[in-house]
This record gives sequence, structure tokens and C-alpha cells, in this order.
Amino acid sequence: MMDHADIVIAGGGPVGGALALALKDGGRSVTVLEARGDFSRQRDPRALALSYGAMLILRRLGVWDRLPAPTPIVDIHVSRKGGLGRCLLSAAADGLPALGYVVDYDVLDRALREALAGGGVHYLTGAAVTRTRTASGYAVVDFLQHGAARQLTTRLLARADGGRGDDAVPGSGQQVRDYGQSAVVAPVRSELPHRNVAYERFTGEGPLALLPSGDGLALVWTCAPERARRLCAMAEPDFLAALHGHFGDRLGRFTAAGPRAAFPLVLKYARPVVAQRTVLLGNAAQTLHPVAGQGFNLGLRDAWELAAEILATPPGEIGGRAMLERYRAGRRLDSAGSILFTDTLARLFSNDDPILRHGLGLGLMALEGLLPAKRFVARRMMFGARGCRWRAPTSM
Ligand SMILES: Cc1cc2nc3c(=O)[nH]c(=O)nc-3n(C[C@H](O)[C@H](O)[C@H](O)COP(=O)(O)OP(=O)(O)OC[C@H]3O[C@@H](n4cnc5c(N)ncnc54)[C@H](O)[C@@H]3O)c2cc1C
Repeated sequence: MMDHADIVIAGGGPVGGALALALKDGGRSVTVLEARGDFSRQRDPRALALSYGAMLILRRLGVWDRLPAPTPIVDIHVSRKGGLGRCLLSAAADGLPALGYVVDYDVLDRALREALAGGGVHYLTGAAVTRTRTASGYAVVDFLQHGAARQLTTRLLARADGGRGDDAVPGSGQQVRDYGQSAVVAPVRSELPHRNVAYERFTGEGPLALLPSGDGLALVWTCAPERARRLCAMAEPDFLAALHGHFGDRLGRFTAAGPRAAFPLVLKYARPVVAQRTVLLGNAAQTLHPVAGQGFNLGLRDAWELAAEILATPPGEIGGRAMLERYRAGRRLDSAGSILFTDTLARLFSNDDPILRHGLGLGLMALEGLLPAKRFVARRMMFGARGCRWRAPTSM
């Protein structure tokens, strides 16, 4: 007989891990299939800016206190290279201690896995999904675990594989736009302290972000792929000088850089995000440009809302059309809003058109002077397009 789980989560990264945790004590059987087998060699150089709302969700999942000292972002400084105008978004204006927090991808990923180790969920490692098939009442998931072919049936297949699954999802289409850009990430140090300010600087090459991370900064430098390759290959002093030339003097000179890596940037999203017995979430549902650090925050809200929907559904109806439709409708605005927000920022302001450059400068000046508009943008960054419904997932 084939093994069965009420819910199978394909991909145990940050979003799949969060979904599993939210379902852990809900009385449903949950199996996570994670392709990685050996976590000791893992090193993802990304730092993630978590929104204030993401912090609240991670706290409810019992993960927040496992993270060693996330770095608070108290202000976000937005500017345009070669243009007038700047805008400062401030947590104090909303009466909150921080607009968000910075943690390393690996640190968050490990904390989620450790929280899951307490039981309640089967987390299989070295388990790569190879094929999925669905029928009206169930899905069949084929996977290879340490070279052995295995199968599971499930009421609901939640795909949180980061969009890397090879097989298409019948009934759901993919929209893809290549930005023709890469993001160079690296930890860097500067002469002047960051004072918990995150910098978002729009340049003709693309946006450049410097996030406060411990005593140093986490850099995300968007540029053409060829330039990214050269930046990664440069000797450290040349790289630091190039960064100073590109970012300017706000943090003084840059004094050190850690390992550099480049990520190709595409906008990729599935429509609809549900299909027969299947739901896509996190990067599998939408992979965004990293400008304004929205991707994981949105994926975490996907996981939270999906868990709430599953736990509010009688066991026999999990994965059925009605449940999937409620989930799809509930996530539509947040997903579409985040795609529009990041895509507009990335495309409109990643060029040297003088009209757009001055337009952005004027826009930033106007935003700086308009308190309600500033609060709107700050809340958008903290909580997403429509905020999250802060209901805790509860069992039926
Ligand atoms: C340069 C850069 C900077 C970013 N900065 C931010 C930021 O500041 N804030 C923010 O919110 N977001 C940010 N993001 C986006 C963020 O990294 C992603 O949104 C987030 O990692 C998505 O998580 P996920 O779990 O959906 O996918 P992933 O992180 O890709 O994880 C997918 C998991 O699925 C597993 N998997 C893949 N295929 C299979 C398979 N066939 N079978 C089983 N398992 C499989 C993988 O091993 C992995 O563990 C950034 C992205 C980039 C590129």
C-alpha cells in the first residue's frame, strides 16, 4: 500500500517550513519532502529583510526566539542617484519599535527546521519530488529519497519548491519576465555605523540596497549580468571602491567585503495559484524582483493564510475545490499588489531616462512632505498589500 498524508509539502525551505510549522499541532498528517540532504555544507549568502508583520507571524510560530539577534531596521532611506529628493520612512511615525528586521537566509532556514524537529510533522530530507499526478480526490507524489523511488498519496499537495519543480502544474499557467539583471549579494563593512538604517538607492543600473546586519551591512546590488560577473570576480579593494563610487558617501568608505554571489532576476508567477488538489505558494507561486525585500514576506503570508484555511476546513474537504477557491480568492490582492509594487519599482526606476529620474526625485520629495502617503508606504512595507488577517490557525 502507498503511504498517505493529508497534506504533502514539496519543498522544506523557509516557506514550506513555515507552512509545516503552522500545521504541526493541527491534527492533520503532514509530510514535508525536502530535496537537500546535507545541511552542514549549506551556505546561501542572502540576507532577508523581514517585515514587522513577518516578525509577528514567526513569533506565533515559535521561531522568532530561536533567531540569534535579528537586526532591527528603524528607518528606511530611499534616494535616487543623480536626482534630487529623498524620503525617510520611520518606524517611530507608526509608534513601532522597527519597520522590520534583517536575518540571514541560512539562520532562518535552520531555525525553522529546528522548530519542526519537535515532532508533529514528517520532514524527509534528501527527498526530491520527481513527478506529480492528480485526480479528483487525491494527488500522487513520486519522489527519490537518497536514490530510492518512493510514492505518497495526499489530499493536498502544497508546492513550496521555490518554482524549481520541473513538472508543469496542469490547470495553472506561468508568466515569466526576465529582468536582464542580476543581484550581487555580499556582507560588507563601512567606516560609519549603519545606525539601523536600511538604504534603498535607485540607480540607472537598478536598485542598490544596504541593509543593517549585525555590526555590518548586507548588500544587494542590482546590475547587468555581465557587470555582476565582473563585480564578483574583482579583487576586494577594487570591489569596495566600485561600491563607494556607486553608492556615495553616506556610510563613508567601505572597508571589507565577505564572499560575493550573483542571483539572476526574473519575475515569474503562476495563475491561478491553485489547481486540482494542488496549491502553489512562496516563490513557486510568485518569484519577485528583490527590490524592497518583499518575496519571503509575501511567501510567509501565503503559508500563514493557507494553514488557517486548511485548519478551518473539515478533514474530508481538505484540498477540495471549495477550499482551494477560498484560498485563491483570499491571496489574490496581496500577491497581485506585491507583483505590481516590485515590478513597477524595478522597471520604472532602473534606467537613466532623465524624465523618469527627475520624476522619481520629485515623487520622493512629495512623499517626504506627505505624511499620510508616507505612512501608507511604510505600512505596505510592514504588512503587505492588504495587511494580514491576524487570526491564529486553529484546529477544527
Ligand atoms: C538577492 C535576493 C535578495 C532577497 N532579499 C529578500 C528580502 O530582503 N526579503 C524578502 O522577503 N525576500 C527576499 N528575497 C526573496 C526570498 O529569498 C524568497 O522569496 C524566499 O527564499 C522564497 O522561499 P521559498 O521557500 O518559497 O523558496 P526557496 O527559498 O527557493 O526554497 C525552496 C525549497 O524547496 C526545495 N526544493 C526545490 N525543488 C525541490 C524538489 N523537486 N523536491 C523537494 N524539494 C525541492 C529547495 O531545496 C528549497 O529548500 C530575496 C531574493 C533574492 C534573490
